[in-house]
Amino acid sequence: MTKLPTPQPGIMDIELYVGGASTVEGVANVIKLSSNENPWGPSPKAAEAFARAVHDLHRYPNTDHAALRAAIGEVHGLDPDQIICGVGSDEIITFLCQAYAGPGDEVIHTEHGFSMYRISALAAGAMPVEVPERDRVVDVDAILAAVTPATRLVFIANPANPTGTMVGKKELVRLATALPGEVVLVLDGAYAEFVEEFDGGASLVNRFPNVVMTRTFSKIYGLGGLRIGWGYASREIIEVLNRLRGPFNLSTAQLAAAEAAVRDRDHVARCHAENARLRVWLGNALAEHGVRCDASSANFVLARFGSREEAEACDAYLRGEGVIVRRVAGYKLPEALRITVGDEASCRRVAHLIGLFRNAGVTGAQGDD
Ligand SMILES: *Cc1c(COP(=O)(O)O)cnc(C)c1O
Repeated sequence: MTKLPTPQPGIMDIELYVGGASTVEGVANVIKLSSNENPWGPSPKAAEAFARAVHDLHRYPNTDHAALRAAIGEVHGLDPDQIICGVGSDEIITFLCQAYAGPGDEVIHTEHGFSMYRISALAAGAMPVEVPERDRVVDVDAILAAVTPATRLVFIANPANPTGTMVGKKELVRLATALPGEVVLVLDGAYAEFVEEFDGGASLVNRFPNVVMTRTFSKIYGLGGLRIGWGYASREIIEVLNRLRGPFNLSTAQLAAAEAAVRDRDHVARCHAENARLRVWLGNALAEHGVRCDASSANFVLARFGSREEAEACDAYLRGEGVIVRRVAGYKLPEALRITVGDEASCRRVAHLIGLFRNAGVTGAQGDD
């Protein structure tokens, strides 16, 4: 009898991450509003830097990421020695779980929290612990009530995905103050650049040595395909995470593109302004069709329908019309669809189609009577 290799406990409890779809069978020109990508793409300067990297493909990349960390530090007013760069912020999340949680430990995430927290906790052999939110907003009291002596990490995205909601600074300070010092509080700022006057949690890192902020080049920077993210924390935590980081985790092309991207503040400002304008427009247009959204601080809205059936039917209808949005039943929001704020034409198209869908639904119901 041959034996098979057995994976570590927890690994087979991981449900495979399902990314936003990008194709519809039989439809040529789809509008993809399912992955919170930047519809305007990256800075042209980032694209140029990426193209120039072709001349150095035979060279190993730099291992300490000094130039990129310096650029991030300059732009955000942060100490480069407190920054670590990774293969997307996903890799920083993975390092944090690997470094601070293992078998017997607990990792707290919230009811509608980003799925990578759970996946990374399980991959490290730890136990993910889900705590309720209050009307789709992170609830600090619920988090504190769930803390046990086994708690090692708490993950919060701010703004959150897929709800788009935020938890205020006062509440975060209350949480950081009340958490035991040996628990790491991770503030995931993947959407921080879409918020007005927001540091993503950097000031909390400066105040609390157990707080970590993660950021990404995948959202406002429009570089999701290139996989670059970073974390900001106390030097002690950064030193720990650097021991897990592969020396060549980022390629020359990634480093060069990210540095050019972070330095192009005009591009970021333009994308921020357009997103803010179109997010309001889209929320209002959906409201006119009787579909409600929470106030979003990110580059998507969470459209709430009357029922799971209606959300599914609308998703299917949009797909048939070549518009892909994101079902979020896996995030315990079966009656909702997450819709990325696209460019103006895409926003108009998705709002128009949802209007048609809603009107057809109402007429159909009346016709049945
Ligand atoms: C998109 C997203 C990220 C970014 O992940 P990357 O690995 O940097 O692409 C991180 N956290 C949340 C909540 C996100 O929605």
